[in-house]
Amino acid sequence: MNKKLESIKEKALQEINSSKDENSLNENYRKNFKELSSVFSQMGDLSSEEKKAIGVKANEIKQLVTRAFEEKKETFVKEKKDNSSFFDITIPGKKTKIGHLHPITQAINEAENIFRGMGFSLVEGPELEDEWHNFDALNFPADHPAREMQDTFFVKSKNKKLLMRTHTSPVQIRYMKTHKPPYRIIVPGRVFRNEATDASHEVNFYQIEGLMIDKEISVANFKAVIEEFCRAFFGQDVKIRLRPSFFPFTEPSFEVDMSCSECKGKGCSLCSQTGWLEILGAGMVHPNVLENSGVDSKKWQGFAFGFGWDRWIMLKYKINDVRLFYNGDLRFLNQF
Ligand SMILES: [Zn+2]
Repeated sequence: MNKKLESIKEKALQEINSSKDENSLNENYRKNFKELSSVFSQMGDLSSEEKKAIGVKANEIKQLVTRAFEEKKETFVKEKKDNSSFFDITIPGKKTKIGHLHPITQAINEAENIFRGMGFSLVEGPELEDEWHNFDALNFPADHPAREMQDTFFVKSKNKKLLMRTHTSPVQIRYMKTHKPPYRIIVPGRVFRNEATDASHEVNFYQIEGLMIDKEISVANFKAVIEEFCRAFFGQDVKIRLRPSFFPFTEPSFEVDMSCSECKGKGCSLCSQTGWLEILGAGMVHPNVLENSGVDSKKWQGFAFGFGWDRWIMLKYKINDVRLFYNGDLRFLNQF
């Protein structure tokens, strides 16, 4: 009996250790364990002393075989784990979702390209401005309504009176103070007004400001530049007209209308049946503004203009609510 147990042990250990994979290991273990268990059923003729000795030995062998089985199994598990770090480069990848530029930024880039083609360069300035750059330097009188608390976001500060800029024009002043004429710049940027929000008003919106100063710049130059821009941006033969207006920082000042892009001037709901769309304010830069910026108004002259950029994009894409630009709704943004 003892010999038989020994031979079962040898065979079981040998088979377990030489198993090629997990399946054959399980099979070898099951087979040898069964054989070992059958020894117990053959102990009927033995004396109780012998039964006890054989029982102890058989149990020892069982434990030995089971340990060998578990150790071998462990090596297969580890192998499998090592193999799983293999990276199959032929598996198709998961597409990463990426965003895109905001429609306002896209349109600013488009405008920049068009103006660059006419020799303008892009300049930016601070959104938190001081009162002098935002109002005084631009020839706003001390009692101008825009300076009142209810129209403008003033910011508490110790020294200068600071505010969230109400237009991009202060950047003209900053640029002229630090650069020598001639100038051809555009200034895109965010501006802030204390407005009640509705479909056509927001507390913050975008402007694109333009400035061209040289020795012999006239309204005719302005008209040519703006007409060229409108045609390039709307991709069609649009007409331009100027109407007299008033701004503190330009003299003369005018509002600019573009022939309606929707009805081509025939009259529709977009243009309130007039055939014209109001697109920007502009004018010849006031001599006071030039002097405030350190530019000799006897030698230099030119024009400035400012687009309400949100409205301009709304016209192009027929968007009926300015708030769509700022509420982060992807159903809207993903259309651009
Ligand atoms: Zn129209």
